Amino acid sequence: MARVVETFPGADGKERRALRTFPERGCAAQGRGGCVFIITCGKRKPGGQYLRYKDVLKRHLTSCGMSCDTWESDALMRLEWRKAVKTGTARFEDAQIKELEAKRKARKTRPKVSYNYTYNTSGQFQCNICSRTLKNKFGFASHVRAHARN
Ligand SMILES: [Zn+2]
Repeated sequence: MARVVETFPGADGKERRALRTFPERGCAAQGRGGCVFIITCGKRKPGGQYLRYKDVLKRHLTSCGMSCDTWESDALMRLEWRKAVKTGTARFEDAQIKELEAKRKARKTRPKVSYNYTYNTSGQFQCNICSRTLKNKFGFASHVRAHARN
């Protein structure tokens, strides 16, 4: 899910802001005649704390290679700011894609674990080490992994 802060001119001519959420992950959105800046993509870590708006903003600014201290003054120069946002997010997305591809490659090249299933006389799974009887293959595999950890 992506959350986007959209700025647009209001009816009285003053600048208005709206927070919009998009269900698809990592999307870029076009605003209603105003500028669009992607604040966050993804979700918090399980069990993690809810972050404040400015903490999420800081995290995403640093991930895009922008300064957290000077972003407000930088944003006043619209053309440079828009270029910086575009290049920063593109660089961030490229790095994220490369990281995910490397992670996937590492996962896919890892050899599959093979188990030698052993059975007792009544046809149930039985551990070679402690001769415990197990009900199914998954339980057997989990049990063997537990032995390997110890
Ligand atoms: Zn065992």
